[in-house]
Amino acid sequence: MTGARLLVDADAIAANTRLFASLTAGELMAVVKAQGYGAGAGLVARTALEAGATRLGVTSVAEALALRVAGIDAPILSWLNPIDADFSAAIAHDIDLAAPGVAHLDAVRRAARGLGRPARVHLQVDCGLAREGCPPELWPQLLAVAAAASARGELDVVGVMGHLSSADDPADPANRRERTRFAHALRLARAAGLFVPLRHLAATSATLTQPGARHSMCRVGAGLVGIDPTGTHRLRGALALEAQIVDVRDVAAGTPVGYGHSWLAPRATRLALVAAGYADGVPRTATTDAAVLVSGRRRPIVGRVSMDQFVVDLDGAPALPGEYVTVFGPGDRGEPTVAEWAAWCGTIPNEIVTGVGPRVERMPVAASAPLAVAR
Ligand SMILES: *Cc1c(COP(=O)(O)O)cnc(C)c1O
Repeated sequence: MTGARLLVDADAIAANTRLFASLTAGELMAVVKAQGYGAGAGLVARTALEAGATRLGVTSVAEALALRVAGIDAPILSWLNPIDADFSAAIAHDIDLAAPGVAHLDAVRRAARGLGRPARVHLQVDCGLAREGCPPELWPQLLAVAAAASARGELDVVGVMGHLSSADDPADPANRRERTRFAHALRLARAAGLFVPLRHLAATSATLTQPGARHSMCRVGAGLVGIDPTGTHRLRGALALEAQIVDVRDVAAGTPVGYGHSWLAPRATRLALVAAGYADGVPRTATTDAAVLVSGRRRPIVGRVSMDQFVVDLDGAPALPGEYVTVFGPGDRGEPTVAEWAAWCGTIPNEIVTGVGPRVERMPVAASAPLAVAR
């Protein structure tokens, strides 16, 4: 117990999952990388699988293996690994692997040969991010190598995946261009004799706003915890970061507060010290607009956020040590939302939720009784 906790509303995750599942006629992959967007990978995975997701997605093999250790036996795809990752362990634990090029494919094939069983592979094509994925000019070669390995029984090519650069803005013309590139990559795969059941391009934003990107599976992460980068849907916020008041004190006008004395009390006032800092996911970069909910009222954070704590101006209101304040939540009770924190910090909601630090206890709660904390 460190004085900060992240309440995770599993009912909200389930409701969001059902919405995404209803949008696609194909499969829904729950993306639970980065500790399930801060919420806890195991909890998000189990909740989403019960609510209609059929597969899980993570970046690294290590994240995939951790889900297996947690007892989750659903299909899992890992799509971003250095070439010397433990592909043998992945294949031995039935983890699908993405291959962005021939070198990765060869590493996966070697591991599969060593185990005497085929690896399940998703070929990854770059549709316009110039990031992960095979550049289009190398795609025919990757297909040829994959088709040959598949004919030899070393690989089972089950998927082709791409990713969109600009889906958060559905009006951006890059979306159409990149959807076209993906469709072309699929045609080339079929021409190479690879008929893959899992064709996936859309993440949260495209699943919500681009029917033409949904293909046979959507990969949704942020949306499961309630983040809609397109602002077009009403998703349920699943996360609430709370922290305890450690101390309350009255200070005289002119009292400087915190490192560098960046704030001086403009009048005599009452301050509360709260036990969460930037190591816990309260960014130091927040502007002076940043506030938290104390006893139902928004109170500004004053002075610098430090590693383990911040100070709130209570404006004379009473507060008790031990009381929890809400840093962010779904917004139902007037508390700041993840989106507001993102705006205060010049970033996106994804960075706020994945920034919640490891020492913050994750606590599942039932939406019907948000304060009845399940331990
Ligand atoms: C993170 C990620 C996703 C999920 O994206 P969201 O916008 O959070 O739904 C899907 N695909 C890839 C390749 C990713 O890296």
